[in-house]
Amino acid sequence: MAADIDCVVLGAGVVGLAIARELAQAGREVLVIEASEAIGTGTSSRNSEVIHAGIYYDAGSLKAQLCAAGKHMLYEYCAERGVAHERTGKLIVAATPEQSAQLHLIAERAQRNGVNDLYQISGQQARELEPALVCDAALVSPSTGIVDSHGLMLALQGDAENYGAQCVFHTAFRQGKILDSGEFELEFDGDEPMTLTANCVINSTGLHAPSVARKLQGQPAEHIPQAYFCKGSYFTLSGRSPFSRLIYPMPNSAGLGVHLTIDLGGQAKFGPDTEWVDGEDYTLDPGRADTFYAAVRSYWPALPDNALNPGYTGIRPKIVGPGEPAADFAIVGPATHGVPNLVNLFGMESPALTASLAIAQAVREALNDAP
Ligand SMILES: Cc1cc2nc3c(=O)[nH]c(=O)nc-3n(C[C@H](O)[C@H](O)[C@H](O)COP(=O)(O)OP(=O)(O)OC[C@H]3O[C@@H](n4cnc5c(N)ncnc54)[C@H](O)[C@@H]3O)c2cc1C
Repeated sequence: MAADIDCVVLGAGVVGLAIARELAQAGREVLVIEASEAIGTGTSSRNSEVIHAGIYYDAGSLKAQLCAAGKHMLYEYCAERGVAHERTGKLIVAATPEQSAQLHLIAERAQRNGVNDLYQISGQQARELEPALVCDAALVSPSTGIVDSHGLMLALQGDAENYGAQCVFHTAFRQGKILDSGEFELEFDGDEPMTLTANCVINSTGLHAPSVARKLQGQPAEHIPQAYFCKGSYFTLSGRSPFSRLIYPMPNSAGLGVHLTIDLGGQAKFGPDTEWVDGEDYTLDPGRADTFYAAVRSYWPALPDNALNPGYTGIRPKIVGPGEPAADFAIVGPATHGVPNLVNLFGMESPALTASLAIAQAVREALNDAP
């Protein structure tokens, strides 16, 4: 008996939608199944909306490759499909001469990732670009930008549906198994609980991808990582942004530092910080603003008291815990776990919004790999 559906994509975040578009465009029958009421209610609507240049990642890593490729694809796609975006550029600012002496290391790292357009400017030149900024020197990243993530997801969903894909909402994957025929039997909770069979499953459920994979019996457990959640809080600035470019302090061992991003409406926000949490709790603690003031004043001393307002939070879907070296994207397909027609996406944290179109291509290719 034939399966009910060719491909099921679990999760309608930016990654799941990009994959649905890619597979539908390649002629496959696709059903996107989403637990919540709409597209992009998870991490895809709780992030910085930055199109990352691809500067910091380990050379040769999937993050480096897919960010660099995805950035170009994303700029082209946004232009073609009329998705709001802007190539704002970004400044990585050194507060002291000691930090300035380290800037070339960042530029070299970027170069190893194929990002060849960074250049260094003096503190004075930085102030000519951004008069509110105080720094000793800065690196300019011209290819960094911002995108309307919801507009992007709507465009991806529209494309996927035009190629014949369907999306269903209020439907959560509960459990499933791999049948002797190689097909997948999947059970869903929701408004209309159902069971269906599929030839191919893509698990793109973000924070929940490891637990979803564990509930799909018949795949080896050793390729399913433990999930860790790391919350990031944002504070928004009252009034118009004093900067027109994104401003990042020098990265440190704890991350990228409290940086300033702007949205397409010109609203500035600071964050995200890092807070390891146990569950999907998006509450924002207004007290966290205290640490933001000092960090931001290292490059913008004029930040007025009481100017920061609680914004929102997002949670990074980590697959390594506190203190461990950063993990790469894990696109785990037949070549790794040995199960044909199954791809799990783990650790789809930043820069997966930037890289979404390139990740989708990688998933289509991974499906063709021999087990
Ligand atoms: C604080 C923060 C800032 C970031 N900033 C940037 C940035 O500036 N630039 C960038 O490139 N990236 C950024 N990212 C990363 C980016 O937002 C994510 O990598 C991307 O949104 C992940 O998309 P996704 O589709 O994998 O996950 P999600 O958007 O989380 O989608 C997963 C979907 O699966 C659904 N789901 C879960 N369980 C089930 C189930 N059992 N059945 C059916 N559906 C289910 C969920 O409801 C959800 O809709 C940031 C991330 C964070 C946390």
